[in-house]
Amino acid sequence: MAMTGLQIFKLLPKTNCGECGVPTCMAFAMKLAAMNADLAACPYASEEAKKIIGAASKPPIRLVKIGPPGREVPIGNETVMFRHDKTFVHPTAVAIAFPDNESLTDLSHKLAEVREYCLERAGEQLRINLVLVDNFSEEVKPFVDLVKTAAGSTGMGIILRTTNLEALEAGLKELKGKRPLIHAATPANAEAVAALALKYDAPLVARAATLDELAALTTRLATLGLKEIVLDLPADNPAAALQYNTIIRKAALKNAFEPLGYPIINFVTALDDASAVADASTYLCKYASIVVLDRMKLELLLPLMMLRQNIYTDPQKPIQVDPRVYPIGEPGKDALLVVTTNFSLTYFMVSGEIENSGVPANLLVVDTEGMSVLTGWAAGKFSGEKVAAAVKASGLGDQPGKHRLVIPGYVSQISGEVEEGLPGWEVLVGPGEASDLGPFMKIQAAR
Ligand code: SF4
Repeated sequence: MAMTGLQIFKLLPKTNCGECGVPTCMAFAMKLAAMNADLAACPYASEEAKKIIGAASKPPIRLVKIGPPGREVPIGNETVMFRHDKTFVHPTAVAIAFPDNESLTDLSHKLAEVREYCLERAGEQLRINLVLVDNFSEEVKPFVDLVKTAAGSTGMGIILRTTNLEALEAGLKELKGKRPLIHAATPANAEAVAALALKYDAPLVARAATLDELAALTTRLATLGLKEIVLDLPADNPAAALQYNTIIRKAALKNAFEPLGYPIINFVTALDDASAVADASTYLCKYASIVVLDRMKLELLLPLMMLRQNIYTDPQKPIQVDPRVYPIGEPGKDALLVVTTNFSLTYFMVSGEIENSGVPANLLVVDTEGMSVLTGWAAGKFSGEKVAAAVKASGLGDQPGKHRLVIPGYVSQISGEVEEGLPGWEVLVGPGEASDLGPFMKIQAAR
């Protein structure tokens, strides 16, 4: 169970030496309670403190890693019910299922699509994470052939789904050292599947018909030595799945119920695409660590990727880009210098509009700690003085050419201060909305 800051404080040395990076033991205790620090940062913590605090700060949902070294997909380790409380840690892995009873040539094309899929948004590359190989044929050879092809073609982590133990072991042998996820150990085969998971050092899914059976099954698997387990509780419909997911998460986080303290896998089986998107989105929101789709369709992936990115960004840390000069097109010596903040959404909107205008320019991103233009100005992070200092630091003013600077229309009030700080520069007040930047750029470029 989580400890309060005061409970942790009582176990610390109370010397306030500051070596942990904060000035007092109390401040460090508060950070530990919020899971924003590691006890290892205090070199003077007693063995007793390490034992007690270490056990209490263990994430209530186990970390599971799937896939080959370098391409591992971590899931679990979550600590909160709601994203606004802190942050969700490991984004839901999206997996595409492939049945082994179809032509390998057709499947190879689809696997290539999975490998190549990439949605670029707000500076991130959003991709599919895992491939599930389904032993529809119930035979060993087609299963192993597809396992080999899927792993070789995509390089991704593989989920081995089969009830045939011979096929499972053959698949595990093929993927030795690549940590595939076994689907699944059930109350009927737990010992045999656990033995294979241990032999090949692979995480496994525990699948049972009810919550009680699932808890009993994971307890059995843990006794056998399994640590990396994923939960699969089949539901009749998405509403029931949502209810199960919520009960599991609550049991793990609020009641520290270890048998359900593992990440969850959900399968999307809706026949029509619209229902498939709705079901997958539901699981993504609450609380699937893996969502398996039974089809590879771009129109299905787009909303899921965007939803996942939005849910798994840290609400306490705005997404930022590096503060520096970004040349757009091939700006010459007379090119405009457009100034904006390092809030990534602002950056991508402004850079996109400049790019679309076809007018080459330099874009200077000022460090506002991830705040947008108006918020940054209100917080004193996007002042005239700061903009002038960033322009000077860029060195662009030392080069020959016209020195023309565009500041956002929403902060026209800083133009005087910028002018004062940048003798020799012409300061232009741009439009308020990024969408009006294109016409503005064209007019200015023609001057
Ligand atoms: S390093 Fe340890 S003893 Fe020193 S202030 Fe931090 S918590 Fe206290």
